[in-house]
Amino acid sequence: MVHVGIGYDVHALVAGRKLILGGVEIPHSKGLDGHSDADALMHAICDAVLGALGEEDIGHFFPNTDPRWKGAPSKVFLEEAARQVARRKGKIVNVDATIIAQEPKIYPHIAEMKTRIAAALGVSEKQIGVKATTNEKMGFVGREEGIAAMAVASINLPE
Ligand code: MG
Repeated sequence: MVHVGIGYDVHALVAGRKLILGGVEIPHSKGLDGHSDADALMHAICDAVLGALGEEDIGHFFPNTDPRWKGAPSKVFLEEAARQVARRKGKIVNVDATIIAQEPKIYPHIAEMKTRIAAALGVSEKQIGVKATTNEKMGFVGREEGIAAMAVASINLPE
């Protein structure tokens, strides 16, 4: 039976941090703030996968109070989500995601993001969708105070 899950994440943009989205370091004057590498795209995808399994969210598996995850590359979160899928004998059908960022331009990095997300989840790049939009200069994203990401995941689980 095919199950779907949804994920959303947002992190603040601050000076003095690297900007990492989909596992790719993107040259920019600011980066995302957080306990881990603050990769909002991978976090949203992680929650979508966990949601499709009916599991608790990323914060349950990786508390931001745990020093083990300080500065952690977010691919470890996706790898754990993939382990949870395998534990249920499930198969990821596809993942689709949208990054909402006013700046910088995301499009040139999307192919590499798909490669890294697919590798972390152990699936083909053809199963991964990544898109990006601005927020038309409105709200906190439009003011470049943060970057958001949303994702859905579809997983085939045994009955
Ligand atoms: Mg997060």
